[in-house]
This record gives sequence, structure tokens and C-alpha cells, in this order.
Amino acid sequence: KMVKELEEFKNKKIIYKNNEIKFKANIGSVEESEIIEEIDGIGLLRTEFILFDREKAPDYKEQKEIYQTISNNLGKKEIVLRTFDIGGDKQIDYLKLPKEKNPFLGKRGVRLYEEEKVHKLVEDQIESLFELSKEGHNFKIMIPMVSNNREVNRFFEEFIKPKQEKYNIKIPFGIMVETPSMALSFDKNTNIDFISVGTNDLTQYTLAVDRTNDEISDLYDYFDEGVMELIDIIIKKAINKGIDVSFCGESAAIPEMAKLLIEKGVKTLSMSYSNIPEVKKYLYHNL
Ligand code: PEP
Ligand code: MG
Repeated sequence: KMVKELEEFKNKKIIYKNNEIKFKANIGSVEESEIIEEIDGIGLLRTEFILFDREKAPDYKEQKEIYQTISNNLGKKEIVLRTFDIGGDKQIDYLKLPKEKNPFLGKRGVRLYEEEKVHKLVEDQIESLFELSKEGHNFKIMIPMVSNNREVNRFFEEFIKPKQEKYNIKIPFGIMVETPSMALSFDKNTNIDFISVGTNDLTQYTLAVDRTNDEISDLYDYFDEGVMELIDIIIKKAINKGIDVSFCGESAAIPEMAKLLIEKGVKTLSMSYSNIPEVKKYLYHNL
């Protein structure tokens, strides 16, 4: 009965102050893209997951096929593709990356893109997205784990701009906001079209609490007043500058948090597909 009751909310429209709230899915594989039916798009495609459980890195052709298949499964709806977020707790043997003392504060996300093997993977990734966009697919490109605007601009100059010139098209470009420094400075960047707030890491880095350590999990609090203040600042800055803002951390799937974010002006939430009916149900009755 419970399942049936929730089923009813799957396709329910949630309207707040005359705006329809968009619900997108976080996914990390072709398999997940197969089961998704009614959705406003993919708000976070965690591409590093395609690197796991294999012997060697995928080549260009293989990457392109994966993204193409996912896009086709979604009926070519919009997909925010996050470039590889390796490092931290996500290690991949065949890349043979150096071991670090403090991986969450070390080389992860874009910080790894100068390593030869990772560079090639990202180069292929971006190339395949421009190819697919030419063929009518609807991708946005988003980079993970940036700490400052220099990193963002370096990525843009190195990976995005040359492809824009080569293909003579633009793909919306944006960043994950996962560090307090970026939360306070993204609005000064003129290369980005959108941001998506990753509250899993933003909470970890704001509170200096390892998100994977059970010993200190009581300190890891999405609703912490410092974290919420930072979220407030992010949303205000984004609205002021007309930068599209969405949330894709797990906390967006906590019904009470979803409500708070929408009341602050957020119009797009991305979460695990299975959480959407529950969140919509709460919002339908409480917003
Ligand atoms: C986040 O940090 O909130 C996020 C969505 O990215 P990931 O969980 O993949 O680090
Ligand atoms: Mg993250």
C-alpha cells in the first residue's frame, strides 16, 4: 500500500510561488539510467563510477558510447555530467595514483587532472560530450572539488575553450560548490553558467568533519547553523548574479531540507531517484 500511495506522487507537480520545482536524479551508471521513467533530467551524473570494477581505463570510443546510451535512455533530456571526481575516498587501482596522508584534503577532483592518465580520460570525456552535443544530445558539463576561481578558469581555458572553437558550439559549463572558499567566491567567475551545491562535501569541509568517519558522525550535521548560513549566502549570491543554482547533495532528499531550500529560492533539486516520491509527498502537504 505504501508503495502505491507514493507512486501517486512520482509525477506530481510541485509549485512554489508560481514556479514549478524541478526534480532531477543523481546517477552513476548506465544501469541506473535504464530504470528512470518520469524525471526532469539528470542533475548529477557521477562519471567516476564508470571507472570502477574494470581492469583498465576506458578509451574514447567507450566513453562516448556510455554517455550516448545514458542520454538515449533519458530520451535526450538534459544531463549534468560531472567530470571524474577521483581521489578522496574514491581510489582506482589501474590509475596508480600516489598514496596520500590526507586524501580528502589532497589530490582529488580537478586537482588530479594534470596527472597524465587522468588528463587523457578528461580530454576524451570533454571531446565526446562536444561530439554528442553536435548530434543533438543535451549535456551540461560540471567540474568537482574546486577551491578557487583560478582552478575553474584553468580548466575552462584548457579543456572547454579549445573544444568550443573546434566544434563551434557552446555547452553550458558549471561547477560543484563543495568548499567554503568556492561558496564565497563563485559569483566572481564569469566563465560559469551554473552551480550545483554538493552538501555532502560542503558539510564535511565547512565543519572539518570527515564524512566517512562514524566516530564523529554526530558532528556531521547538514542543518548545522554555520552550514545553513553558508547555504544562505550561496543562494543569495546566485540569485543576485543570475547564476542558475541547484542542489545535488544527499541532504536535498531530506524532506525538511528540501522545503527550506525551496523557500530560500532554489528551483531545482537533484537526488537519488528512489527518494523523489517521498520528498514530493512531504512538499505537497507542507510547502
Ligand atoms: C556532494 O559532495 O554533495 C556530492 C554530491 O558529490 P559526492 O557525494 O559525489 O562527493
Ligand atoms: Mg562531492
